[in-house]
Amino acid sequence: MKYFSTRGGGPKLSFEETVLTGLAPDGGLYIPESIPTLPPNWQTEWKSYSFVDLSVAILSLFISRDEVSEPDLRALVVKSYSTFRHPDITPLVKLDDRRFVLELFHGPTFAFKDVALQLLGNLFEFFLLRRNAKKAAGETPEKLTVVGATSGDTGSAAIYGLRNKANISIFILYPKGRVSPIQEAQMATVTDANVHTIAVQGTFDDCQDIVKTLFGDAEFNATHRLGAVNSINWARILAQTVYYFLAYFHIQPHLPDTSADVQFVVPTGNFGDILAGYYAKRMGLPMGNLVVATNANDILARFWNSGRYEKADSELPVSDGKQSGVRETLSPAMDILVSSNFERLLWYLAYENAQGDDENARMVASSATLASWMSTMRTDGRVAIPVDILETARRDFRATRISDEETLQTIRSHFEASPSYIADPHTAVGLAAGKAIASKESTIPLQIMLSTAHPAKFSEAVVQALRGQPSFDFDRDVLPPEFVGLLEKERNVVEVPGPEVDLVKKVIERFAIVDAGSGGVVGV
Ligand SMILES: *Cc1c(COP(=O)(O)O)cnc(C)c1O
Repeated sequence: MKYFSTRGGGPKLSFEETVLTGLAPDGGLYIPESIPTLPPNWQTEWKSYSFVDLSVAILSLFISRDEVSEPDLRALVVKSYSTFRHPDITPLVKLDDRRFVLELFHGPTFAFKDVALQLLGNLFEFFLLRRNAKKAAGETPEKLTVVGATSGDTGSAAIYGLRNKANISIFILYPKGRVSPIQEAQMATVTDANVHTIAVQGTFDDCQDIVKTLFGDAEFNATHRLGAVNSINWARILAQTVYYFLAYFHIQPHLPDTSADVQFVVPTGNFGDILAGYYAKRMGLPMGNLVVATNANDILARFWNSGRYEKADSELPVSDGKQSGVRETLSPAMDILVSSNFERLLWYLAYENAQGDDENARMVASSATLASWMSTMRTDGRVAIPVDILETARRDFRATRISDEETLQTIRSHFEASPSYIADPHTAVGLAAGKAIASKESTIPLQIMLSTAHPAKFSEAVVQALRGQPSFDFDRDVLPPEFVGLLEKERNVVEVPGPEVDLVKKVIERFAIVDAGSGGVVGV
């Protein structure tokens, strides 16, 4: 299996090259040259598979055997998910007869990004070790220096994915005093020698600007070649397809009949999580449509509504001061202006509507269409997608936006329900969206809501929603044992007294593995 850029530039890459490259040089995202179909007997064969078995089976369809052997792949998968606390890895929890929650937060940092980043870290290490083993004595070994900025919630997943990995150093910048104490502690208490948490006196935007400047710095890049672990990395999407399959098998005993279609509801920011569901569907996993649940940063909900993909909401008055920027919400991991992975879906939509004499001509045409949309988006901040293409998107997806007030209300109503369920604010956006969409469908769908974080990870919103409830006790009902005492644990943080690139450079030069031959970036 080879991968190519959505925008059509550059050569096709192997899986290994795709994973190590991240973003394509033409600015596009890598996608597989074809979407594999499931083996004929998958439904009986895979029925009793564990998460690990399913992961090996699915990943094998996208990774050539001669690139990673089956025993090597299995060893990587086993290692990646041995850090999870639940035997199912991503357990399915029943709320009532037609609603289920797929909990994706049982990994080391209590959020769904662990599912992908645990595997990505091991893939990086595996490929680097293999490359270095082939080098002659005296040749410089390949290393990776990952640098990224976080507003608090996702830096820890990257750190836990890369901690203690051979040939890799990771530097995560965060705005000092502007992330929650638990989030800060989750990053700062990782004291492995290759992990460097940097507290910058400044804002999150300052941190992001510093990272961008570092990557745009030709000289710095000459010594630190770029790779990527951000959410556009193909391996992250691939890793996330697995839980859709697991959920499909786990829900079967609860279905009224085997033909019942299940709708998946996904709290969405950069469109990675839900895109994995789209791939599962395209591979042949039976499911109803996928629901895009956004917070007030609703570029995707607006797209499905209008066909316009635009940063600012043109229907808002220009005087709305927040119009051009990201809105801060109670579900910060979904606070985005544009959704990077949406480009991959747009390619498939363009392809379905492309003209051409053969497969290859249609693929070339889709990339050209996509590249022109992306270029319009870059210059104008908006692009109008033709109506036939929008209709194609509406066949597989529903989309809706949920406010902070609805998020809080949903946390409360699920706490009060029987059985009681305590949702984190991102999961609550999904629960609220599922309810809103169900009320509009002609037949009430069965739904699986993806739960993307543990409520203790976003405790401020949970406490804000539930503090009036006499029977609510945060320490008893929410706080996991792993978080107890976390704030007092030993820390390793480098302080940078101002938002200055040169100061951060010095830290990286001082701590990066000597002879670092490459670097990478972590998106948030
Ligand atoms: C990253 C994240 C999301 C959004 O996932 P995307 O793949 O970016 O759409 C939702 N919830 C939580 C808790 C996250 O960390």
